[in-house]
Amino acid sequence: MDNINQVLIVGGTHGNELIGVYAIKKFQRSHPLIQRPSFVTHTLLANPGAIAANVRYLDQDLNRAFVDSAAPSPANAPSYEQQRAAELRAQWGQPESPVDLLIDLHGTTANARVMLILDDLNPFTLHLAAYLSRCQPHLRVYSSSGSGRRQDSLRSQARYGIGIEVGPVAHGTLRADLFQQTEATVLAALDFVEQLNQTGTVPADLPRSVTCYCYRQALDYPRDEQGQLQAMIHPDCQFRDYEALHPGDPLFLSFDGDTIPYQGETVTYPVFVNEAAYYEKHIALYLTEQQIIPLP
Ligand SMILES: [Zn+2]
Repeated sequence: MDNINQVLIVGGTHGNELIGVYAIKKFQRSHPLIQRPSFVTHTLLANPGAIAANVRYLDQDLNRAFVDSAAPSPANAPSYEQQRAAELRAQWGQPESPVDLLIDLHGTTANARVMLILDDLNPFTLHLAAYLSRCQPHLRVYSSSGSGRRQDSLRSQARYGIGIEVGPVAHGTLRADLFQQTEATVLAALDFVEQLNQTGTVPADLPRSVTCYCYRQALDYPRDEQGQLQAMIHPDCQFRDYEALHPGDPLFLSFDGDTIPYQGETVTYPVFVNEAAYYEKHIALYLTEQQIIPLP
């Protein structure tokens, strides 16, 4: 595997996900923590306007703004996030990104524990996932491959991009244990890169496979013709991220107390169950398939 020369750690892509914001502020105060001899580590607060306002975004989701088609037409003033995405692309982004590895820090109201988000399962990210799984018992690996997310996210701008999503944590709040797990995961990722650069190889004692929750489908809440919610996540499903959901298992509960079962035909493993920021995206949860992926 090629050397990693520059790493960019990002927080505040969503301005009210405070664990990432305060982790970046700590890393900026205590830069030796994230320095390693064989590569340069940068830090970035991606959406300062949203961070100042303690909201996810000002005009639109920055983490969906990194697409060419998002370029504003001359008739429309670009949104704050479109401007910000253009600035970030110019400094850090494709087509010739100076960043070999981008680590984007997020928080979720879902019971993600420590979720490592991989957009594609290349040898580098799979070995990194195996290493982090060994260091961090709460870590679960989610593959967004197939969700169409690769091109519009901030992390897609670098050669390798990963997301670290921790939860459950309410937006606009901190949780000390999840802050510490975020920090430990970032530092472990930097240690992995350092070892890879120094030795040219990955640790010999890594697990030989990674359990990965692979995106299959986004599911919306039941809604009426006006788009109004007709049901909530069922109590039996709440906080059950990564747990098997079988056909017929309770999925939603209507406001009248009627259970709406999962109607798929095969077992699935929900993630991002009841994520607050996904109501506006019409997503109640993602359905995934659990796969054991052998390391290349
Ligand atoms: Zn986020």
